[in-house]
Amino acid sequence: MTTLARAWTRKRAALAATLAVAALASGCGIGGASDDGDTVRVYTGRHYGVEHAFAQFTEETGIEVDFLFGNDAELRERIEAEGEDTQADVYMTVDAGNLAVGAEQGMFQPTDSEAIDAAIPANLRDPEGLWFGLSVRARTIVYNPAEVSPDELSTYEDLADPRWKGRLCMRNSPNVYTQSLVASLIAHHGYDEALRVVKGWVGNDTDIMATDVLILEAISQGACDVGITNHYYLAREYAEDPEFPVELVWANQADRGVHMNVSGAGVARHADNPELGRQLIEWLATDGQGIFVDGNHEYPANPEVPAEPLITERFGTDFRRDDLAAATFGGLNADAIRLMDEAGYA
Ligand code: FE
Repeated sequence: MTTLARAWTRKRAALAATLAVAALASGCGIGGASDDGDTVRVYTGRHYGVEHAFAQFTEETGIEVDFLFGNDAELRERIEAEGEDTQADVYMTVDAGNLAVGAEQGMFQPTDSEAIDAAIPANLRDPEGLWFGLSVRARTIVYNPAEVSPDELSTYEDLADPRWKGRLCMRNSPNVYTQSLVASLIAHHGYDEALRVVKGWVGNDTDIMATDVLILEAISQGACDVGITNHYYLAREYAEDPEFPVELVWANQADRGVHMNVSGAGVARHADNPELGRQLIEWLATDGQGIFVDGNHEYPANPEVPAEPLITERFGTDFRRDDLAAATFGGLNADAIRLMDEAGYA
């Protein structure tokens, strides 16, 4: 049933995307010039629960939201190709790597908002106001409690130790989550030491997988003992099955803390309605923070907003978080890709 449910969710998402494209096409005239001042248009690489948040925003403000789902590289290409005629007021995506690459490619214009700056800690947003982290995800160590004691687990670096040989599952290198984790290793240790760690993972015959869900399933089925995933994938498993036989530990608690990433958004460079874009992002950072974040079992980016009960109860909120600026490791994305290539990490 789990697989069926997932397939259905994907179908619904695909349908929503089709409808969103239709809405964009009909809502905007030739050249993309918009005369309806009460619609904000969002190109989003984030798929998790955004419909509910946008519907609530419309209910509270009267501002309609048209949105287009897509894969990030395609959305960025589209925004670039559309240039000044783009329909995007806001580009939303997951991972500081995607946000930083978008900023480098000139996707965004700076937004000056005291409300956002007050709501979102400085390390979770771009220093120039090009993008803002709106939810927070920990990428941490997960394990099979039948095979591993949590005392045996400590750091990402320790997973390079030969005692983990043949016991690890990790995410593939084209994935931006992997790239950002490796970028954080570069930021903390320098390129050469980060390379040594990643070579250690490779040397442990780590099983490289295409999704975080596959990693959790492999661990639950005993195919590997330990992996690294974003916390919310495990929360999703617990939401379906509280007895799901995988647990997490927060990585690197004795030193810098667990790697924290964001999903976020910025006002598009050629937005027709930058003001509405700013209003939407402000709302997501404040009044809409709970609905936006809880839709994907994430931690709030706004420290004034409590986390949802599921993750509070299963994972807690009192753990050491790596406060490395998202813009810093996001900006090291290309270096991380090069490093993994050099290390032979697939
Ligand atoms: Fe994800």
